[in-house]
Amino acid sequence: MSQAAVIFDYNRTIFDPDSAGLMPGAKAILEALERKGVTLFLVAKGDDERRKQINQLGLMSFFKKIIVNQSKSADDYRSCIALCPEGTKFFAVGDRVKEEIRHANECGMTTIWFRNGKFAAEEPSADAERPTHIISSLGEAEMLIV
Ligand SMILES: [Mg+2]
Repeated sequence: MSQAAVIFDYNRTIFDPDSAGLMPGAKAILEALERKGVTLFLVAKGDDERRKQINQLGLMSFFKKIIVNQSKSADDYRSCIALCPEGTKFFAVGDRVKEEIRHANECGMTTIWFRNGKFAAEEPSADAERPTHIISSLGEAEMLIV
């Protein structure tokens, strides 16, 4: 595989706030991508508490960088690109088309909408919000990341 990187959203993608634990399949896909040598990033909304939670869930070691901010912007995604060799193929996985999918699209990434839970019915209202792929379980993302 050529060099690939995946930027994961945190809430309702890796972390399930309804069960206060990891999403089904979250650990498995992180481990599988890590085994394949894919570079992983996490972009989360929040503060120090969120960072603490990410640490307590044992997720820190998977990611080259973890970005935790009060709000998300395309700059978060650009900063991940800046940390990887030129030619790296970027993928972004998230549950909100109006947040991470839009930002990652703006950066030219392949976007994967994990359509689940609270924002499953929040459809794209512009081309900029349209994902490259739509999945309903995290396991489906693995075969799309090549
Ligand atoms: Mg989310």
